[in-house]
Amino acid sequence: MAKTGLDIESRRRVFSWFLGLMFLVLLARLVQLQIVQHEVYFRQSEKNRVRLVTLEPPRGQIYDRNHRPLVENLPCYTLALLPYHYRGKEALLLNLASFVGVDPNELLQSVRKGYRTEFQPVKVRRDVPFELLAQIQERWLDFPGLLIETEPKRSYVGQSRLSHVLGYLGEIAESELKAWKGEDYRPGDIIGKTGLERQYERVLRGRRGYQYVEVDALGREIRMLPMEKWTPPSPGLDLILSIDDRLQAKLEELLRGKRAAGVFLDPRNGEILALASSPDYDLHWFAGVLDPAIWDSLVADPCKPLLNRVTQGLYPPGSTYKLITAFAGLNERVFSPESRVTCGGALAYGGRTFACWYAQGHGSQDLYDAIAHSCNVYFYTMGMRVGLDRWARYSKLLRFGQPTGVDLPGERGGLVPDAQYFDARYGKGGWVGGTMLNLAIGQGDLLTTPLQMAQLAMVVANRGKGYVPHLVRAIENPLTGRQVAVRPDSFEVREIRPEVYDIVREGMWGVVNAPGGTGRGCNLGDVVVAGKTGTAQNPHGDPHGWFIGFAPYDSPEIAFCVFVENGGSGSGAAVPVVREVLRFYFDEVRTERAGELAGRTPTSFVSLASISSSRAEVRP
Ligand SMILES: [Zn+2]
Repeated sequence: MAKTGLDIESRRRVFSWFLGLMFLVLLARLVQLQIVQHEVYFRQSEKNRVRLVTLEPPRGQIYDRNHRPLVENLPCYTLALLPYHYRGKEALLLNLASFVGVDPNELLQSVRKGYRTEFQPVKVRRDVPFELLAQIQERWLDFPGLLIETEPKRSYVGQSRLSHVLGYLGEIAESELKAWKGEDYRPGDIIGKTGLERQYERVLRGRRGYQYVEVDALGREIRMLPMEKWTPPSPGLDLILSIDDRLQAKLEELLRGKRAAGVFLDPRNGEILALASSPDYDLHWFAGVLDPAIWDSLVADPCKPLLNRVTQGLYPPGSTYKLITAFAGLNERVFSPESRVTCGGALAYGGRTFACWYAQGHGSQDLYDAIAHSCNVYFYTMGMRVGLDRWARYSKLLRFGQPTGVDLPGERGGLVPDAQYFDARYGKGGWVGGTMLNLAIGQGDLLTTPLQMAQLAMVVANRGKGYVPHLVRAIENPLTGRQVAVRPDSFEVREIRPEVYDIVREGMWGVVNAPGGTGRGCNLGDVVVAGKTGTAQNPHGDPHGWFIGFAPYDSPEIAFCVFVENGGSGSGAAVPVVREVLRFYFDEVRTERAGELAGRTPTSFVSLASISSSRAEVRP
């Protein structure tokens, strides 16, 4: 999408507005100091000295793939004080605390924590309401050494909530101050805590500016030194996400009220179009000052709203994982696609009975039937012949048991159990009977994230080729509008033969399109969808429902995974969600995307790994 001149112009205006605002606050002080209190200060002018005042840069803004704004900045006033004036004057400090509405102990603590020198301001209250600002101005003489600073506060303006993707900001912790040593962070600074705000902290933050102010012997500002001595702040860079705000809002709406996760991505480049975890939380709670009661309730909530289920939730994948057993069985030539297994509703093994979900039995099944009907007995049989070692090897080939590398902090890698794992857990020889049968149908100690399952759908859609899933598409300079595009890392699973991919793809076609397929509910008619359902038993209540897949079948442009915790079944809980999202994608989003892909020629590229580690690498 080409940027219009108007657009750049409007951002320039926002930035100059910001600088202007800071200037105004300083000017107000100046008038007060120079005119109102001129006499007082004139007498002390011989003892003047110079103090460095920092100018906070506006934080980078965040846009969706069509440049629809998602996160903007609002000005926010922060009250700071110069410790000098309160040295040994506890009564005055307590008085101040009650005047500005801060807990006295908290105020004492802020001063202690933020103290650097007696003439360096310490932040004592964020997000000061306007009425209080006016009162502070009136009582300026009662409370010497007070300063008002402006800081940006996040404002969320998208149609979607995107809580887990965007993440929130918060005051820097002591551990973070240590970890970010040497990067100009100070106590009281605001820093990205989760999501993209954290992952791209270095890109979004910008650089502080400095200005010199002449102060008197008591550290009070008398006048600003000439403009040429300023170092203006350098604004943070903007993020252009791969998220489509409307598709995201649709997915969020469909997951609301459930404990669930959904991710839809473009298999041609790994760009994530929608990623939602439910329940979520309102990011506005974190803008300004977070109410501790809200935080406590978020942490205590048994539905875990702070958890990003897409990247951090670990679940047994159930029957969706039969695809891995199929890859191993076919590629190792254990079975041919025509090999048949008869399902009588259960399989006896090692003195135990392993049931098929269809108690009456599926009868004689080849691979295509077994995938479409999700027959357990077929995959028990195949899994036994594959064996644990080969099964674990194919799991790892298809990138399970390790994080995908998505650009979000805290991603988990799941667990692919192998012989070593079982030996350690149950003792040598203590685990053989039946272990492989459970793993072959995606049960047992195996754990995956919904994002890993979407990645599998992408790899199958592309017959072995994959891209690291990611959320940031480009970094943009807010002053020039110039962009640097993200070039995702790619990989290829070459050990699996092309015809094996074709067979598994055809099996997934049957799930949605053949009679008796478990994903028939996602048959869209005009667009051919392929997929695999899963219903995963778990010790915590009803089975989890899964559905993974891609569309259109012949030239995939969207791959997906939807997971519903304790949803009952894949076909009942997850398939209807996917159907609605795909319908919306093919009816509303796709036409706009056609133009987007044609008209875009970014000037330069940067790799995903290098941007989050260093701002210096990105210069749009
Ligand atoms: Zn069966």
